[in-house]
Amino acid sequence: MPPFVVYTLITIASVLAMEFVAWSAHKYLMHGFLWSWHEDHHKPHENDGFFEKNDRFFLVFAVPSFLCYLFGGLYDQYFPLLFVGIGISIYGLIYFLIHDVYIHQRFKWFRQLDSKYSKAILRAHGAHHAKQEKEDGESFGLLIVNPKYFGKRIKSK
Ligand SMILES: [Zn+2]
Ligand SMILES: [Zn+2]
Repeated sequence: MPPFVVYTLITIASVLAMEFVAWSAHKYLMHGFLWSWHEDHHKPHENDGFFEKNDRFFLVFAVPSFLCYLFGGLYDQYFPLLFVGIGISIYGLIYFLIHDVYIHQRFKWFRQLDSKYSKAILRAHGAHHAKQEKEDGESFGLLIVNPKYFGKRIKSK
């Protein structure tokens, strides 16, 4: 295979793998011992500023991506890591656009996406936010949606 195909595949695989990393981090860390950082994302809060403690996780996920850029850039034998880093960054951008912009409307860039998939994402994450507590959550992923969320009416977020 030509190198650019390999590097493209590494990038795509990293983006996909990040959905599982994010799912497990959300389920086991953010709803686990890091709940104190994630909690304010589940509680209603109106007048306490733009940022949530939960936004710290953007910085947390930036660390592995930074390390991939660093080692991939510095050492020839780790060069493919550069594309893992790019994959993590792409997933971070997708997560930001879908979770923070589209679902939670922190920026009013696109309010209505009218596809079955975008509505299913909204319903699935709405079901996640239906619980304000740490325990017994559902729907911890973002892009991979349980089929049951296709074709139901939208519940409140
Ligand atoms: Zn959560
Ligand atoms: Zn959310």
